[in-house]
Amino acid sequence: MGLMRLLPRPHDRSRHAVGSSGDVAEDAGDAAVIPVDDAGTDDARGAGGDIAQPIVPAPAAAAADGASNLEVIALANQKGGVAKTTTTLNLGVAFSELGYRVLIVDLDPQGNLTMSQGMNPDSIERSMFDVLVHKVPISDVVERREVDIAVSSIDLAGAELALASMIGRERSLEKALVEVRDRYDYILIDTPPSLGLLTINAFVAATGVIVPVQCEYLSLRGLVQLENTLAMVRENLNARVGVEGIVATMFDGRTLHSREAIEILEENFGDLVFRTRIRKTVRYAEAPVKGSSILKYDPTGAAAEAYRELAKEIRVKREAEAAQGASGGT
Ligand code: ADP
Ligand code: MG
Repeated sequence: MGLMRLLPRPHDRSRHAVGSSGDVAEDAGDAAVIPVDDAGTDDARGAGGDIAQPIVPAPAAAAADGASNLEVIALANQKGGVAKTTTTLNLGVAFSELGYRVLIVDLDPQGNLTMSQGMNPDSIERSMFDVLVHKVPISDVVERREVDIAVSSIDLAGAELALASMIGRERSLEKALVEVRDRYDYILIDTPPSLGLLTINAFVAATGVIVPVQCEYLSLRGLVQLENTLAMVRENLNARVGVEGIVATMFDGRTLHSREAIEILEENFGDLVFRTRIRKTVRYAEAPVKGSSILKYDPTGAAAEAYRELAKEIRVKREAEAAQGASGGT
């Protein structure tokens, strides 16, 4: 069923055992929250065993591997509080540290990403709302902070409604990004906790989707719904978009609960699950209050290092795929 389609990118899916994943999706139900004794994973256990390549060092800078290779990554999960915003900012800053040119886009009317860079969404005059609805150039709403950020304001809450009656409503963000494509290596889009038109705009504009999942409340059903929406986008609007990876957040290795969450994710999604786990620590909540990323707030801490590791892992994965593509491999 749906879970199989969560494994969409043909070039990196070849060895993945998906045979039993559908059963899990079926059985998981709405209450598929960890612990998932009732998730019917028995026959899935062991099926997703052949997971990822080891992490190898990432390239030092963008120039080395073609700065024009723009990646547009949507951070999405219709569940709130899973670290979409935290991941958008810190991954963005981590890419920037590696030498890439980064734009982060706040597509959530709550404006948490905007706030996490020290700005107040309530006092912002022009925001992504004007970009999407009034076709204001996106560069007009980009602020330079730790990385460039296209800001949100509360107006954005009206965007779904305003877009609904517009022709090309799903492509508004994609069109807006054309203007700045050449200026960045990574554009990371923070999405609201829904699968509505704003998130769909992000999927249409994206080259890949990264799904943060909270180890504490892992919902397999939620992931299936996300993939179903993504599958519709793939069929109708953006054939290239797929799940680039799933990142486990708020991981606490001391609890069985967290370890089980990782196990279930890896059984179902194999090497789509990033090896890097983002541990649970209050540091992540402290940093935005200071208007800064964790990498700036506590540069040498483990929390900052986790997002650096994630950035490197994403690079490695991408290069492996590129190499495979270049060699015409399967
Ligand atoms: P989302 O954007 O998915 O709603 P957020 O990124 O806003 O989620 O994170 C939700 C809350 O959890 C925030 O208060 C954030 O500071 C906190 N948080 C994020 N990542 C972690 C983590 N690894 N450990 C502990 N708290 C975290
Ligand atoms: Mg958020």
